[in-house]
Amino acid sequence: MPQIADRLSRIKPSPTIAVTNKARELKAAGHDVIGLGAGEPDFDTPENIRNAAIAAINAGDTRYTAVDGTPALKQAICAKFKRDNNLDYEPANITVGTGGKQVLYNAFMATLNPGDEVIIPAPFWVSYPDMVLLAEGEPVVVPCTQSNNFKLQPEDLEEAITEKTRWVLLNSPSNPTGAAYSFAEMKALTDVLKRHEHVMIMTDDMYEKLVYDGFEYCTPAQVEPELKERTLTVNGVSKAYCMTGWRIGYAAGPVDLIKAMGKIQSQSTSNPSSVSQAAAVEALNGDQSFIDKHNEVFKARRDMVVEMLNDCPGLNCATPEGAFYVYPSCEGVIGKATPDGKQITSDSDFVTYLLESEGVAAVQGEAFGLSPYFRISYATSTELLRDACTRIKKACEALK
Ligand code: PLP
Repeated sequence: MPQIADRLSRIKPSPTIAVTNKARELKAAGHDVIGLGAGEPDFDTPENIRNAAIAAINAGDTRYTAVDGTPALKQAICAKFKRDNNLDYEPANITVGTGGKQVLYNAFMATLNPGDEVIIPAPFWVSYPDMVLLAEGEPVVVPCTQSNNFKLQPEDLEEAITEKTRWVLLNSPSNPTGAAYSFAEMKALTDVLKRHEHVMIMTDDMYEKLVYDGFEYCTPAQVEPELKERTLTVNGVSKAYCMTGWRIGYAAGPVDLIKAMGKIQSQSTSNPSSVSQAAAVEALNGDQSFIDKHNEVFKARRDMVVEMLNDCPGLNCATPEGAFYVYPSCEGVIGKATPDGKQITSDSDFVTYLLESEGVAAVQGEAFGLSPYFRISYATSTELLRDACTRIKKACEALK
């Protein structure tokens, strides 16, 4: 048995990847399983983006690039921040990594000393606390209730801040709830943050483009320009451009932080794929019209899923502003028994029951830090979603 470093005992493998793998295995073994665990669009990468990658390969863009992004991609990112968020950045403020995940990880590795605190509103994206722990920081989890639409309240933020707070991490629209902050809600948070000058703001805007019903998206540095110098705005092409496998994420922030993040990357992975970077330039600069088309489909699926889940005895599902997730409460099924006599005592029991009885793979709320809930990704075909919700209803009705 090889020695495994102590730091590994602080973290767990990604539970969402675990659910996806389990569903895949069951399917491969011939079971009828619908996977609602994956956090990626079911649409293909648009053709213009694919063609840009092919052209890059044929043009010989197949070598190492600058560690934290090509000049062309950094320019395209600066233009995106100006166009979408009215934020002025220079290429020196931009870093590009292998997915948003690496960018977030670099930021924690570059800034946290042992014991530094990171405020993470729950429910949270599963990787945040573990990344903080790997970087020897302390996650400070602040619960956000369904009655507050799963959004961080200014008074709770104020209370969580200590002398040791290094970062506050915001994620809007959120994975797993889809909740997104309006301008007024965000302003209430930035007003608190303005008073605490030692606190940095990390905002994960990965789902910026996926908002519905005319929701007006905003990001902290845009809402409160005074905070721009201590904000790291993280974004990427994975979700909006259907490019999860290409692995390109980016961030804008103060030059010294961006340099420190580049230093970590220079000694770990070096540049993200040259071909993927060329594709990302086309994604950001090219035609954006498919985003609205995809959003129409996502919105229709969201409405259908929310309606069908609210028709299941024991479940209660809010309608979120964005992303492609819903986060229904399963409080009403806790304490009930399955047809073969097992008691449902937690959201983990409930998702296990859904998988075993009806072949529906969802992710337990425990993984996201707020129970009793579960997450459903509606980034899958409308037909499968309808079938999955029908099966969930059947499973709920069978509980006693
Ligand atoms: N941030 C959030 C909130 C996510 O949901 C994800 C992916 O699931 C990421 C970051 C990571 O994105 P990427 O695939 O670009 O690494």
